[in-house]
Amino acid sequence: VHLDGKTIYDIVLEDSFDALAKEISALGTEKKKICIIADSNVADLYLDEVTKILSGCCREVTSYVFPAGEENKNLKTVQGAYEHLILNHYDRKDLLVALGGGVTGDLCGFVAATYLRGVDFVQIPTTLLSQVDSGIGGKTGVDFDSYKNMVGAFHMPKLVYTDVSVLRTLPDDQFSGGMGEVIKHGLILDKEYFDWIQTNRAKILAKDADTLKLLIQGSDFIKREVVEIDPTEQNERATLNFGHTLGHAIEKLKNFTMLHGHCVAVGALAAMNICKERGLVKQDEIDAYKALMEYFFIPTSVSGLNTEEVIAATKNDKKMEAGVIKFILLDRVGHAYIDRTVTKDEMERALATIFR
Ligand code: NAD
Ligand code: ZN
Repeated sequence: VHLDGKTIYDIVLEDSFDALAKEISALGTEKKKICIIADSNVADLYLDEVTKILSGCCREVTSYVFPAGEENKNLKTVQGAYEHLILNHYDRKDLLVALGGGVTGDLCGFVAATYLRGVDFVQIPTTLLSQVDSGIGGKTGVDFDSYKNMVGAFHMPKLVYTDVSVLRTLPDDQFSGGMGEVIKHGLILDKEYFDWIQTNRAKILAKDADTLKLLIQGSDFIKREVVEIDPTEQNERATLNFGHTLGHAIEKLKNFTMLHGHCVAVGALAAMNICKERGLVKQDEIDAYKALMEYFFIPTSVSGLNTEEVIAATKNDKKMEAGVIKFILLDRVGHAYIDRTVTKDEMERALATIFR
């Protein structure tokens, strides 16, 4: 990832942890201490292996493990991490490693951004979502009460080490949720990538390692491109939020029982209806998207919600700017733009297409 003409960090894509020692050592870790932050599930599966590898490239490795789940992405867990770092005498030059999904990456990144006014950290994303989305781009943070990502900071990692083989242990619904964001990347920035996913869907579902590498590489490329143009989300980066205006509202009204990637994918489906009405995309393109959603077990509708409450919920979203709702639309499949003219009527008709 480059910013202002400089390389800020590498995204390494492998199908094992074999190259991890070399990549970490390249950061000059020999005299450092490394703290691995992981949730309980990922720790059970991968902490021993990663600890062993990292022990060979630094002075000392310790780990801070917290209970898995979004409900623990909060300041209490952050406090636990600070205590661990202080008790183990971590200083400014030491390194944190986020081993896990988006919850771990966001949390560890926030701890790294704030501990001693900022220490370096490395992402080892282990969910599909984190490998294509949250692990890249430097947005870190935690939830506050029921407010998602309310407290946070921009803090870029020093390295993103992605091992696609860990996706084999990922629960199927988590993989499906991640696919929601992956397909979104194709819709907003790359029609060819979208078509490639369609062609290779069987191999993706079978988690074929080489295909997964290409899938993640393609998605990373898209996310990276947007982040490089607009690292702090003043403008372009907001196009990554395609599907999120309605998606977040649905996610909240469903009390977070529906996966984020699924809510966003359904939100994107509704948004595509607005694009269709405006003559920007065709019905057969919507149908193709829908077929792909179904193939990856992504729901194409939601139940038990009504239009009024969803529209009301979008108003409390971070996507509001000076009272106007910021909507991301496609002017064609493969290109998104920011629109501030979506009407309540358009939203109502769009929601009608995804309610059951
Ligand atoms: P997660 O980190 O909670 O992981 C999902 C579940 O999978 C957890 O139970 C975890 O323990 C388990 N798991 C992780 N890797 C595994 C593996 N390889 N094998 C078996 N189990 C595994 O959730 P997520 O979907 O990765 O991330 C969601 C979070 O990401 C949200 O908090 C969201 O706000 C955040 N996010 C951040 C950004 C960003 O730019 N920073 C972008 C999108 C989402
Ligand atoms: Zn998202």
